Amino acid sequence: MLFNSRYPALSPKLYHQQMPLPLIGAKAGHFNQVLAEELQWSAEEQAAWVEICSGQRTFSEFPPLAMVYAGHQFGQWAGQLGDGRGLLIAQILDKKQQTIDLHLKGAGQTPYSRMGDGRAVLRSVIREYLAGHALNALGIPSSNAVGFTSSTQGVQREKLELGAMLLRTSDCHIRLGHFEWINQYQADLLADFTQKCIEWHYPECLHAEQPILAFATQVVQRTAIMIAKWQLVGFAHGVMNTDNLNITGSTLDFGPYGFMERFRPNWINNHSDYQGRYTYQQQPSIGHWNLWIWLNNLMPLIPEGYEKEQWKEDLTACLSHYEPIFLEHYRLGLCQKMGLPDFHQESFDCGMLFLRILQSEQLDYTQSFIRLQNKEYQLLLDDCLDRRQFEQFLQQYQSIREHQDQAALDQAMQQANPRYILRNHMAQRAIELAERNDFSEVDRLFSLLSQPFTKQPVVERAEDLGPLPNDVPEVMVSCSS
Ligand code: AMP
Ligand code: MG
Repeated sequence: MLFNSRYPALSPKLYHQQMPLPLIGAKAGHFNQVLAEELQWSAEEQAAWVEICSGQRTFSEFPPLAMVYAGHQFGQWAGQLGDGRGLLIAQILDKKQQTIDLHLKGAGQTPYSRMGDGRAVLRSVIREYLAGHALNALGIPSSNAVGFTSSTQGVQREKLELGAMLLRTSDCHIRLGHFEWINQYQADLLADFTQKCIEWHYPECLHAEQPILAFATQVVQRTAIMIAKWQLVGFAHGVMNTDNLNITGSTLDFGPYGFMERFRPNWINNHSDYQGRYTYQQQPSIGHWNLWIWLNNLMPLIPEGYEKEQWKEDLTACLSHYEPIFLEHYRLGLCQKMGLPDFHQESFDCGMLFLRILQSEQLDYTQSFIRLQNKEYQLLLDDCLDRRQFEQFLQQYQSIREHQDQAALDQAMQQANPRYILRNHMAQRAIELAERNDFSEVDRLFSLLSQPFTKQPVVERAEDLGPLPNDVPEVMVSCSS
């Protein structure tokens, strides 16, 4: 590994140095060798992946540390939070010379653990491992993981489960909540910290007339784009608190996430989300709310010669980019998924009409787009109770496509409509087997999700392609992971 250890150069008030506490009986779960190669792990390091991914081996180049941050959880100020069960164990350069964090999740208690035990269970580790991999393969910026290890150590949740660790990679573990903590508890660090964030993550903004405004605008835009991409594949993050969104717009901390199956915009995946704050359809507006909270934390950074009111106005203006950027990306993406020309005025409305049919007929989001792409209109029609509605849609759809370059539109569709997503029941099956020490289903899903747009007849199972029958109860996902 090539180290670029930069977080430890910040004020020690922003973290706590400590070593991971390994679990009893640590053993291999799964290793992402392709990612390890991208991260320039040597052959020797790759051979030692189990020790590295179980906290048994750390690096003299980087003192493992828990970050402190704060946040708004479910809309309420939650005060100090921080890495309660994860440690940053390295910052290394990948093949593209980008600095990547290695964060070991489940590595034991820290001063920020509050009531928690500092551990992660195999169930949630597998869910995060597969979802990070799936999102990356779908072209959505996200944390990923080099590997995970299981153990023989019991960890108490609603029931006793197996402890596990995940070595997560991300381009950034600095959360919106970092700024909230600094403002609340250590305001003298705000200017330096912000400067470092710009240098590390948005160096192009250093040359702007007002680097902080340029930085804020970039964060707003990247977050809007990330959320547009979530919406397009039906991903629901599940716990979009301000401590779970980072400043580079790459998906992070998606514990109780879900990929939507039957199209239900108000679907709640996270059973701890009693009020439905983080449903699929709320995500765009919650992103906006979180950024608004964040921007307020940049208020004290008034540049010299600026009027306070003007600064407030200019910061607020950064947020005005959010909605148009989100809508533009969502609109373009939906047209592409539909195989409709984005310059045509009626394409977006036609896409929305299709979504309304999916909603009223409770059809599977992913499978329905694949059927549209394969021109399996009869299959779609046969699943509709309101046949007339679908026929009207189809007429409109075909008339828009009639005079277009259909081959080009079809090709674009193939790059926008995954055949495979990580359905809850797929993850669940892999987990149940892994809990019995059989990781073959994790292997299979890992391969399948590596190429979500490509049909893999040898690897796929019929169950991967659609939702469970309506009468089979859904797997609800809990926050306690
Ligand atoms: P989350 O919403 O899962 O990202 O977690 C919110 C906060 O709770 C973070 O500060 C976590 O580090 C902390 N946390 C979650 N689970 C545990 C645990 N088992 N032990 C200690 N801290 C935890
Ligand atoms: Mg979190």
